[in-house]
Amino acid sequence: MSSRLPKQVDPWRVSEQGLSYTGVVELVDFPRLAPLLIRLQGKVAYAFRFSRDGLGRPLIAGNVEATLWQTCQRCSLPVTIPVDADFQLVVVEGLDEAAALDDATDPLMVDEAKIHLLELLEDELLLSLPVVARHEACQAWQYDDEPIAAESRENPFRILQKLKH
Ligand SMILES: [Zn+2]
Repeated sequence: MSSRLPKQVDPWRVSEQGLSYTGVVELVDFPRLAPLLIRLQGKVAYAFRFSRDGLGRPLIAGNVEATLWQTCQRCSLPVTIPVDADFQLVVVEGLDEAAALDDATDPLMVDEAKIHLLELLEDELLLSLPVVARHEACQAWQYDDEPIAAESRENPFRILQKLKH
């Protein structure tokens, strides 16, 4: 991996230090996402900022940006899915704490005082995928509306020749 993103961090420690991470990783670094994509060339830009919330819990504000390629379920042609997702997570210890969070914040349960940043990004990318991938307007479906017009316009070179004469 060509990124300085640490594989895992202790959320309490990095929140205490107020650390931030920004950079780019490759799409092929996401093994759960990869099988859902038809094109794995591409990069994922990320940003993480660690702080504490009002109750002293680790608070992670982040963003993930990528262009994902899937197959349109209507016309079977490739469709691009632009992702630019902000997320905000708070490390909680139980379901009661999770239920008490506001709508803008999602709970994050932590195993062994570690969070895996790449897995967290992958979760956000997976959440950003549409339930059914499809074009807003499929090209294949436009044949009915707009029959392909034969080239009826005059050849521009012929027009030039006429002008010369
Ligand atoms: Zn389509």
